[in-house]
Amino acid sequence: MTNITDLTLADLRDALKSKKVSSLEATDAYLSNIEKARELNAFVTVTADRAREMAKASDARIAKGDGGAIEGVPLGIKDLFCTQGVQSTAGSHILEGFVPTYESSVSANLWRDGAVMLGKLNMDEFAMGSSNETSYFGPVINPWRAKGGNSKLTPGGSSGGSSAGVAAHLCAAATATDTGGSIRQPASLTATVGVKPTYGRCSRWGVVAFASSLDQAGPIARDVRDSAIMLRSMAGHDPKDSTSIDRPVPDYESSLGQSVKGLKIGVPKEYRIDGMPGEIEKLWADGIKWMKDAGCEIVDISLPLTKYALPVYYIVAPAEASSNLARYDGVRYGHRAKEYSDVLSMYSNTRAEGFGKEVQRRIMIGAYVLSAGYYDAYYLRAQKVRKRIFDEFVDAFSKVDLILTPSAPSAAFALGEKSNDPVQMYLNDVFTVTANLAGLPGASVPAGLDERGLPLGLQLIAKPFDEETMFKGMYALEQAAAFKARPEVWWA
Ligand code: GLN
Repeated sequence: MTNITDLTLADLRDALKSKKVSSLEATDAYLSNIEKARELNAFVTVTADRAREMAKASDARIAKGDGGAIEGVPLGIKDLFCTQGVQSTAGSHILEGFVPTYESSVSANLWRDGAVMLGKLNMDEFAMGSSNETSYFGPVINPWRAKGGNSKLTPGGSSGGSSAGVAAHLCAAATATDTGGSIRQPASLTATVGVKPTYGRCSRWGVVAFASSLDQAGPIARDVRDSAIMLRSMAGHDPKDSTSIDRPVPDYESSLGQSVKGLKIGVPKEYRIDGMPGEIEKLWADGIKWMKDAGCEIVDISLPLTKYALPVYYIVAPAEASSNLARYDGVRYGHRAKEYSDVLSMYSNTRAEGFGKEVQRRIMIGAYVLSAGYYDAYYLRAQKVRKRIFDEFVDAFSKVDLILTPSAPSAAFALGEKSNDPVQMYLNDVFTVTANLAGLPGASVPAGLDERGLPLGLQLIAKPFDEETMFKGMYALEQAAAFKARPEVWWA
């Protein structure tokens, strides 16, 4: 049979259930891939012993004919999710050594369904970034390289450990989070499938907070089916998160393959931005044609406030971050400065040592836009524009069922290429932040390669809590794109 780690999550799930492979075999195979791929720096912590213990327990359940929906499947967990008894760093020095006494609800849901934890995946510090370069633990390297080149490319961010880990087959699938694009952009840059569900679909409890009104967990997986299986296990109402919504979680997998005939697909003209590479324009045109050929009706729509989305995001997200990150003061969590003279200098020295430059920049922007005298001009105004962006989507969704756009404005770029220019870096999120501001579900599906042989993704955005229609559309896109390329294994 094929290598266990080359099985999709769905195939592995079935092979485990029918006892063709054991969870321990699958777990050992992934641990060996992880060991060989140290150069990719996808994991901050590998929990090999715990993984084997969990795998053995899964095998015992399977032997008895028991077991959950993804019994025995080995997963990677983004290091933003608190995991009981296992260091959870959020990619930050300030949380180095922080071992939570509790488990995030999303990861607890995965263990309830039988999954096995391989370890904690690297990420941008506090999920702030688009290239993984703000991680205290160093950047993750994209398994994809340009044709004929060997320069190190970014796997995207902030969920770069998740995207690289899934693309390099270091785990069957991974958890990720998306505040402004951190699931969809890394998925686009690594030819993986990333799903950001509706705000409120997955519990935020136990997920280190960045910008609470935007943060949402979701999966990064190898294909659309795997992402549907993952989301079903991750999602669900949680009384411990007051923004979590009490609605039944559908079986997303059953949406796959359903006809998309007659679905109205909106194409927003404002997403055709200046300087967008021709290849992305072309990919978008391909996507439109694929949906049309599948029987969808293409509708030109206009979302004129799109141009304000990034500026609004870069006020709202830092404002919330400056408040959420106030708790890291050296008293309760992780790092504490060694040198200080009194409690105030202990706070400030700890924060100066513990937070990286990008996080400090966000805290300063956030504190500024919230300060007396500037609050109305920046924060309040941004909130008003955010509401109008939401209204614009409501209006668009009275005419269409789904919106189709590119996922990111470029393919993977080289490490170092944008890290000295925050504004260039922020522009990565131009197609993704809108869905966060409006709380809508959005997903990226691999759709093609650029001239250099690097992957590009297409995004579908759906109505709130209509992930099922989104999955139908994603599956149709996946079928039409027939994307089969894999990165050449140079790291093992
Ligand atoms: N790249 C965006 C930022 O830096 C989004 C990050 C995210 O979605 N977590 O804020």
